[in-house]
Amino acid sequence: MEISEKKLLRKATQAKYAASPKGKKSLDLAKSRYNSSIKGKATRDEYNSSLDGKAADVKYSVSLKGKVTQTKYAASPKGKSSRIKYAITLKGKSSRDKWANSLGGKEYQKKYRVEYRASLEGKATFAKYAAKRGFALDACQENFTADQLEVLLSKWTGICPCCNKNRKPTIDHFYPLLGKNEALRSNAIENIWLICKSCNSSKGNRDPIGFLLKNLNKTTL
Ligand SMILES: [Zn+2]
Repeated sequence: MEISEKKLLRKATQAKYAASPKGKKSLDLAKSRYNSSIKGKATRDEYNSSLDGKAADVKYSVSLKGKVTQTKYAASPKGKSSRIKYAITLKGKSSRDKWANSLGGKEYQKKYRVEYRASLEGKATFAKYAAKRGFALDACQENFTADQLEVLLSKWTGICPCCNKNRKPTIDHFYPLLGKNEALRSNAIENIWLICKSCNSSKGNRDPIGFLLKNLNKTTL
């Protein structure tokens, strides 16, 4: 037998073995041993941090298979707990803030709010809130009059006292109608002030002092 024939024969035998169940099993075993070895890990780390490795990572993450894997992982208990762990870290918080203040983040939130308001769940929540607010209003002893409001509106300088921006006024209860301290809930003119829509909605039912302190750098009060 010629040397080249021997070589071919050996190659064919190797290929046959590799394709057999026994051969596959032994190959898998060797692979997993290598992967968990120090050398295997180092090779993987090196590849992952290389340009090629990073490009392959991006390619995989946008592929259908990659997306399915991500979705599966995100819905798994492990994925959920790792998300929560990340969310409470400083890095997680700052990346969330960065996203919320970005143009894309703001647009997403706006879209989400519109969709939520139009949904059955959103409508039910708003109806409940309106009813709660209505009860709180009914419970008030004193109510501001149209004349009193007119006086207040006539004093509007055009600048919101909370954010110092040139905006239209909205009526706000300084101590919120649904604030924690029920004794301070009031619809009397003493509890009414004008602030812009944006400040009004971010103030919500929060304690007014806390809200103003938080916006101390903007307020003109
Ligand atoms: Zn404002």
